[in-house]
Amino acid sequence: MSAISIWTAELDDRLEVLWAEGLSARLIGEHLGCSKSAVIGRSHRLGLPPHPHPHPPRTKAVVAKPTPPKPVLVVPPPPPPPPVRTCQYPIGHPRTRGFRYCDAPVQVLGSVYCTVHHALCYAGRAWKHASGL
Ligand SMILES: [Zn+2]
Repeated sequence: MSAISIWTAELDDRLEVLWAEGLSARLIGEHLGCSKSAVIGRSHRLGLPPHPHPHPPRTKAVVAKPTPPKPVLVVPPPPPPPPVRTCQYPIGHPRTRGFRYCDAPVQVLGSVYCTVHHALCYAGRAWKHASGL
């Protein structure tokens, strides 16, 4: 006893077209009015190429090895500018209120005084030198 086949030449043609388009067996079955199993069975009998598996086999996930952090180029901050040398000429008496230093910038090389105070402090020496004392 054999079951009556629903497959006509027209249905086979439509199956082949839909199969070639890559529709799933379930969708083809819905189009043709038959079950997914009927579609799969008929596709085997017609020798249609298998569809790619809808769920590809799992492969081991490639776990990326943690890469060591790249060395960071550390640029040291520029050195601080040299401190501004200020005149150390005392103004006032050290024991009185308001005593301070001149604090004008030193512009004479090798001196601790500003130009004015340097001249004032060393005028005597220049005078002694000039007078031959
Ligand atoms: Zn000064």
